[in-house]
Amino acid sequence: MSWDRPPAQSAGSRTDGDAERSADADVDRTPVADADVCVIGAGPAGGIVADRLADAGLEVVVLEAGPRFDPSDRHARQERAIRPAYDRPAVWDGHPERDAYESSGARHYPLNYTRAKGVGGSTLHWQGMVMRLHEDDFNSASARGVGPDWPIDYEDLRPYYAEAERELGIAGADDNPFAPPREEPHPMPAFPPSYSDSLFAEACEELEIAMHSVPNARNSERYDGRSACVGYGTCEPVCPSGAKYDATVHVERAETKGATVIDRVPVQRLAHGPDAIDAAVYAAPDGEEHRQHADAFVVACGGVETPRLLLLSESSHYPDGLANSSGTVGKFFMEHLFAGTGGILDERTRLNHVGFLTSESHQFYDDADAEYAPFKLEFLNYGGPAALEMAPPAMALEGEDWGDDLLERLRTEYGNQIGVGALVEQLPREDSYIGLDPDRTDDRGNPVPDVHWTIDDRALRTLDRANEIQERVLGELGAEITWQVGPENAGPAFHHMGTTRMSDDPAESVVGPDLRTHDLENCWIASSSVFPTGGATNPTLTIAALALKAADHVLEVL
Ligand SMILES: Cc1cc2nc3c(=O)[nH]c(=O)nc-3n(C[C@H](O)[C@H](O)[C@H](O)COP(=O)(O)OP(=O)(O)OC[C@H]3O[C@@H](n4cnc5c(N)ncnc54)[C@H](O)[C@@H]3O)c2cc1C
Ligand code: SF4
Repeated sequence: MSWDRPPAQSAGSRTDGDAERSADADVDRTPVADADVCVIGAGPAGGIVADRLADAGLEVVVLEAGPRFDPSDRHARQERAIRPAYDRPAVWDGHPERDAYESSGARHYPLNYTRAKGVGGSTLHWQGMVMRLHEDDFNSASARGVGPDWPIDYEDLRPYYAEAERELGIAGADDNPFAPPREEPHPMPAFPPSYSDSLFAEACEELEIAMHSVPNARNSERYDGRSACVGYGTCEPVCPSGAKYDATVHVERAETKGATVIDRVPVQRLAHGPDAIDAAVYAAPDGEEHRQHADAFVVACGGVETPRLLLLSESSHYPDGLANSSGTVGKFFMEHLFAGTGGILDERTRLNHVGFLTSESHQFYDDADAEYAPFKLEFLNYGGPAALEMAPPAMALEGEDWGDDLLERLRTEYGNQIGVGALVEQLPREDSYIGLDPDRTDDRGNPVPDVHWTIDDRALRTLDRANEIQERVLGELGAEITWQVGPENAGPAFHHMGTTRMSDDPAESVVGPDLRTHDLENCWIASSSVFPTGGATNPTLTIAALALKAADHVLEVL
């Protein structure tokens, strides 16, 4: 991981350090008096909870570690995203000391590529694929013979899924025969399949692999006051048009309903007694520490910082970390594994015309058992300006040719790439965890998170199976295979799950089905950190559904 690239600044951008400091001088970062609820973290989970609780008339304060980004900077950030000179975390002003971490597992974990700190959280640079978990994902032990069952099932979450789809604004169709039952159409029609999807369709028909649309959290038509997608193709890591949902939507909506959002105030620890949190102790940019009191606290710091904050908050009541009488805080860290196979065709594939995925296949998902994990196939559309190594600037920089030779290579090698990806479930394991690194501290003197990521054999076997199917599809197309990501080199899909798991049993989990910690009566967790298993669908729709459920449970108590 490196930030030794040019600093993340551009002319006229408020990301300039002096501008930030002078803006800071005008900002009131003192605690809010008489707060009912303190939400920690302003990603989608925190934003949705804050909006829902402010809507109910509660006094809500949101504390966010990172900055509030100026929407008018998004074109400058987009420019940064497409220049190989800038490292990806620089697009959203990642900071080497603030975001420092250790990766001690067998596989390196590139944490700062997988998150963004600031108002909006990681949805600032997410892709926006949003599908529901399958019914069996909630019953892994019973249906597949491995992993734990969730303490809630699909039917419990089903109404919240529908609500979450309306809240995020999802373009989708009812054409996935493998998806769980739904009650109403998506809020917007699905995006049409890309040109390369039509190439895949012919091959998949031959191989009897069903293709269907991808539900996308981006506007296929004007929605909720935001424009329709205009096809920039830089969605991940920045959408300048606002067509792609990000959590600033909910954070700003909460503010219009009276919530107070304080940025650049990392919460250092949660001050508490034996049964309840008293205050969130946060650091302001000027170095001063403040205590935000509230009746209820919702921790929504993502799957890595949520357990870290609990571990940092250890005390004589909780010597192993707050809310950790079960000893499971930080344990069972899960990711989705990305498998992929790609190559080139001797015809144009036009991957560069769409910046996001329009088709996938869940055909093999529910074949999962104790031997093989659930997985889904993704028909890639990544050839556009932000596609890193597949984009012309990176291709040019990687080669040793110049002038006409370079031009000729780009003409022949760019525009005919093709690829199929897959997301594979990994099982929860105790030796896959988020801990605290005893040897290194961040810019505030707190031990940095240690990501110790390990992968089970079932997931590795399934990566092989996904690769085999991908090879068959590309073989049917007549593609020359030039790259493969499989068991040896599979990386994370940037989804942090499982580190404060949910169960009815307080001895083996951190929260109950009401998302409240077993140990503390006024502390809820809204995050994929509560997932007992991960399934093989992108997690954020489920995070949003659980955030809505958590907000309802807070309202039951306050
Ligand atoms: C490149 C990329 C692509 C992705 N694509 C998809 C996709 O297609 N579909 C999908 O479902 N998911 C995707 N994801 C994952 C998705 O972004 C996350 O699941 C989602 O943002 C998690 O939401 P959250 O609110 O739980 O956490 P986050 O979005 O991470 O927000 C947590 C917030 O808490 C703040 N915070 C942390 N610690 C503290 C503290 N101590 N004090 C105060 N604030 C704190 C952070 O700064 C951050 O703003 C992608 C992620 C990445 C990085
Ligand atoms: S294609 Fe462009 S407008 Fe559409 S979501 Fe992506 S970045 Fe936004």
